[in-house]
Amino acid sequence: MWAKDPPLAKPALCSSDRSPATLASRYTLWFCVDLTTSIRYVKGVGPPRARTLESKGIRTVEDLLFYLPFRYEDRSNVKTISQLVPGETATVIAEIDSCQMPRLARRDLGLFQATLSDGSGQVLIAKWFHSPFLAKVLEPGQLVALYGKVEWDYYERALVMLHPEYEVFGEEDELAESLHVGRIVPIYQAIGKLTTRVLRTLVYHALESLDHLEDPLPEYLRRKLELPELNQALREAHFPPQGQDLRLLNAFRSPAQVRLIFEEFFWLQCGLVLRRRKARLKRGIQFQLTDRIREQIKKMLPFKPTTAQKRVLGEIARDMASEHPMNRLLQGDVGSGKTLVAAEAAVIAMENGYQVAVLAPTEILASQHFYYFRRLLEPLGYRIGLLIGSLRPKEKSWVKERLKYGDLQLVVGTHALIEEDVQFHKLGLVIIDEQHRFGVIQRQKLMQKATAPDVLVMTATPIPRTLALTIYGDLDVSIIDELPPGRKPVKTYHVTEDQIERVYSFVRREVEKGHQAYIVCPVIEESEDSSLKAAEQTYEHLSQRVFPDLRVGLLHGRMGAEEREMVMDQFKRGEIQILVCTTVIEVGVDVPNATVMVIEHAERFGLAQLHQLRGRVGRGSAQSYCILVTSRLGDAARERIRTMVETTDGFRIAEVDLRLRGPGEFFGTRQSGLPVFRVGNLIRDQELLELARREAEAFVNHPPSREELKRAIHYIQRHWQRRYGLIEVA
Ligand code: ADP
Ligand code: MG
Repeated sequence: MWAKDPPLAKPALCSSDRSPATLASRYTLWFCVDLTTSIRYVKGVGPPRARTLESKGIRTVEDLLFYLPFRYEDRSNVKTISQLVPGETATVIAEIDSCQMPRLARRDLGLFQATLSDGSGQVLIAKWFHSPFLAKVLEPGQLVALYGKVEWDYYERALVMLHPEYEVFGEEDELAESLHVGRIVPIYQAIGKLTTRVLRTLVYHALESLDHLEDPLPEYLRRKLELPELNQALREAHFPPQGQDLRLLNAFRSPAQVRLIFEEFFWLQCGLVLRRRKARLKRGIQFQLTDRIREQIKKMLPFKPTTAQKRVLGEIARDMASEHPMNRLLQGDVGSGKTLVAAEAAVIAMENGYQVAVLAPTEILASQHFYYFRRLLEPLGYRIGLLIGSLRPKEKSWVKERLKYGDLQLVVGTHALIEEDVQFHKLGLVIIDEQHRFGVIQRQKLMQKATAPDVLVMTATPIPRTLALTIYGDLDVSIIDELPPGRKPVKTYHVTEDQIERVYSFVRREVEKGHQAYIVCPVIEESEDSSLKAAEQTYEHLSQRVFPDLRVGLLHGRMGAEEREMVMDQFKRGEIQILVCTTVIEVGVDVPNATVMVIEHAERFGLAQLHQLRGRVGRGSAQSYCILVTSRLGDAARERIRTMVETTDGFRIAEVDLRLRGPGEFFGTRQSGLPVFRVGNLIRDQELLELARREAEAFVNHPPSREELKRAIHYIQRHWQRRYGLIEVA
């Protein structure tokens, strides 16, 4: 394989005895490795290097080969120093004659400079600013490759490269000239002491001794999408063939890279599609949807549902009436009325004699849901309970007792609901308000308290489609894409701290019109105490100095549940006009008469959080305002604030948030269930993910043959199940 198809081949550089043919024969297979072989058997990997690699999770040849370059450099243009032309970007290989760390005039810029020659008659000076550490890396006598832009320095009267990429050639390096220069060269993120150069050599050796690989990707797909075989893809992703477009490579869109990215997404999506199919085949509860139930729902509704709400309820009701369990994700922007839809689904379940569990991530949100459901459902005679950690033991056991004997029909709760001693009489519907805070495992724990219950997952803020596909790819999706009528988009303004007096007089004018306002105080990352103090100080200041004649209230997370409830009630009834608070109001609070949201130190909040906070106003028919108060802004903060001012569309905001923070941080939690990709990147490779999803659906639903599907399932189980937490794909 290797001998007749040498992708590492390149034109001979200088000395003819190092031509590719000679190289190939000199390094022909010591012995063959496959993907599962330990890296310890790769030429050049001794125990110390193995330990370093293993610390990064690289244990097998496969791990090593999927450690792809993050960048490529075209070093096919190798010149001697005398051939260099100012203005061009080129590679030279030369020896370091001397190194200096000159101090410039009055300032120490950490300049490190080296003078090099290559026997061609001229010298080259390389300069790096702010790089004193180079004194430990570069020294006279070393042979180095430099890659960078050449300039003519009149002052030095010499050719100069500013901040060139450099690579030190070791003496033992026989491969050097064919591997590290004279071609498009892969650049790897260093791992501990293993430089890009060492890694390149190791990858080369691994590829060289690699036995022929079985290509797991279905053949018809490879042809249809014109993807190279795995073998070729791996080789070319590390050592691109001569003449490949560098821009394509650095955008991760060379055929080899596309193939590897697509494949990674494809197997994950196949796993998710298979899991969804399997769940759909299970027998679940077949809820009846009678006219009487429709009547009940109508009676409960405080207003006419929007078209989107109706459509989504239709989708949910159809799922509930089917003989298979529902697994549905309900997406919608803040304030789009998801909770109302959830309440409708709850009525269907309760009318069928089943119990409903509503799981919320925090006590505050659980309490909010509890009041909301109670207000809607108790008048119709349904029995509703709340189960959260901060209840007194006696109250807790009372709720548990009533759940067990079926006296409570709906319970809202936090993690407390998942605990082992919580039993249901006849649980039929599980509603999870996720906010991405529950792992798959927790979801399943709750579902185990019943046999095949219907599951509805709600998310508090929109999730970009790529993430939704990755995390919730096994769920059906309903989207509420319409706000209740009469809502005016919230007007958002950005002001700096020095204008705070104007902000306060604006608040006063709104309050004098009969409206209410929130003033949210900064979160201080390190300490909850200090953020509390900030809220308390602001409260003192506002209630005594700024608005002594208005009714100002304070709400924060450290208050007891009852005290919190009291303050919220006062605010709801309008007895408190201005509510100073921490982010406890981020979710769930619903006071339509509030029209102003002032967020102090808005630069300290994430986009999703700002969007949630802003969602607390604009819930009535009056024009509402969100005022973001900041100090001076860094770049990322400026973009967040600008996004908030420009749009109120939660999906757009989520996209920006994902781009700014990256997929890992988007959910702000480790247990988000987001798989770790080795090649794919959810931001860069969105279109490949979509493609993989479509092809996975087509493949699972219409496989070319049953054997082929079986083989794929087997492959996923062996290779991907554990890595992606794909429980039970088949
Ligand atoms: P979400 O949970 O999606 O953020 P909520 O369910 O909390 O939204 O609803 C936001 C507000 O809109 C609540 O005050 C709710 O009562 C109200 N609301 C929901 N649906 C409608 C509707 N169809 N017409 C008018 N108001 C609605
Ligand atoms: Mg809500």
